[in-house]
Amino acid sequence: MSLFQCENCGCCENTALSSQGFKLFSEIFDWSYAPERRGMRLCSACGPASLRGGAPTENAGKWHGRFPRVFLPKGEFFTNAVGNLEHKETGSEDYQKFAIEAVKGNSGEGR
Ligand SMILES: [Zn+2]
Repeated sequence: MSLFQCENCGCCENTALSSQGFKLFSEIFDWSYAPERRGMRLCSACGPASLRGGAPTENAGKWHGRFPRVFLPKGEFFTNAVGNLEHKETGSEDYQKFAIEAVKGNSGEGR
């Protein structure tokens, strides 16, 4: 399992908690809520809430709450060889220090 940056909201997510980013087997999910997101690597909150056929996905389109959702500048990070999130420009793996304010007031941390 590894960390990655959600291509929709920019937050840091773990593949193990988000169906591998919803990118593999994308045909099993219901994308009607946001067709443009299909094919993107998504966090548990941006990913589909349901499977095709209507059954809810593991987190039903909500942040999993297993760790705080940290939003990062979009497109500035990638998953490096050891599975950590690395800042492209500086090579830093300390992504927390690049955290930005949540865009829509939607921290989704279940409080
Ligand atoms: Zn997201």
